[in-house]
Amino acid sequence: MDLNHYRMNWNYPTAIRVGAGRIVELPAACRELGMRAPLLVTDPGLAGLSMIDHALLQCRDDGLKAGLFSAIKGNPTGQNVMDGVAAFKDGGHDGVIAFGGGSALDAGKAIALMAGQDRPLWDFEDIGDNYLRVNVAGMAPVVAVPTTAGTGSEVGRASVITDEVAHIKRIIFHARMLPALVILDPQLTLGLPAKITAATGMDALSHSLEAYCSPLFHPMAEGIALEGMRLVQQYLPRAVAKGADVEARLQMLVASSMGATAFQRGLGAMHALAHPLGALYDAHHGLLNAVLMPYVLQANKASIEAQMEKLARYLGLKKPGFAGVLDWVLELRSEVGIPHSLGEIGIDDRRIEQVGKMAEVDPSAGTNPTTFTAAQYSQLFEKALRGEL
Ligand SMILES: [Zn+2]
Repeated sequence: MDLNHYRMNWNYPTAIRVGAGRIVELPAACRELGMRAPLLVTDPGLAGLSMIDHALLQCRDDGLKAGLFSAIKGNPTGQNVMDGVAAFKDGGHDGVIAFGGGSALDAGKAIALMAGQDRPLWDFEDIGDNYLRVNVAGMAPVVAVPTTAGTGSEVGRASVITDEVAHIKRIIFHARMLPALVILDPQLTLGLPAKITAATGMDALSHSLEAYCSPLFHPMAEGIALEGMRLVQQYLPRAVAKGADVEARLQMLVASSMGATAFQRGLGAMHALAHPLGALYDAHHGLLNAVLMPYVLQANKASIEAQMEKLARYLGLKKPGFAGVLDWVLELRSEVGIPHSLGEIGIDDRRIEQVGKMAEVDPSAGTNPTTFTAAQYSQLFEKALRGEL
């Protein structure tokens, strides 16, 4: 296998430099966007690793005045974003390197958005035309460098930020939050433990699968979703079984970017439930989607039969149609070590009603192929909790 074959520059949906070892191009990427003093935003776990030291050193060797901000939670909060904005201003920064998993990428993008705004963060929540309130000239440029393959936040136009006062996750949106430049370097993901690889990889699958089931008219997103799912089918088991498999890692990074590109078509009930569960229980987002996946498919069955026929054919599954896809999801889940029920990952039954109500009004619920009531979401949650498919 010739890894050079995979070394490419793409400009869809944004500028993407893909290939092993391409993190060395980080200083040049910053300069391309006019940065002289980038603030590297990452999470506390990564901040102590040599890959972040190297990236900062490289930038400084190149003459860039690079700073570091890593005081963010696993589910980044509004306070984390405002602390990052303070660090951005104190250090005289002019751009953001969002470097890490979904939390770091989302926090970095939100910090870049807020760098030059007069309004508070929640004024930009993705409701109606709130995005028109953004002072675009006040937004700082972003280079995104994912170190997990799942959220695809590097090609997303939004950040999920937890409102720690209301205990909910809010989506902050502006089309220009899409990072201007992305580096997909599989070498940065080689050290990810199998469990995180599995959970984040299943998140990528959930993005493509939910986008694929969305009722909105968007054939481009549908095509991307199909191939995104095929890449997960082929490469996620390999990346989980052998973390140092560079080709599998690279293809999973691509599948992750494809999932997030596809979900411009919308998400669905997996995310409508995963968002409140993540906010209430601080559980891992990808793991929640991975566990919820077959229960949501089952609940949506009547609305997605035709789509499942096509998907089963495209993936070359043993059994056709809905049953084939459901079997494949269950097999893949167990192959990569995902538990079958929410009960097994520490979720309890004390907030069934609350979760149902929150799911019904979650923005992702709007593009689920079936419209569920709060009570139906509660039922779906209860089934996933107990493992009753
Ligand atoms: Zn997700």
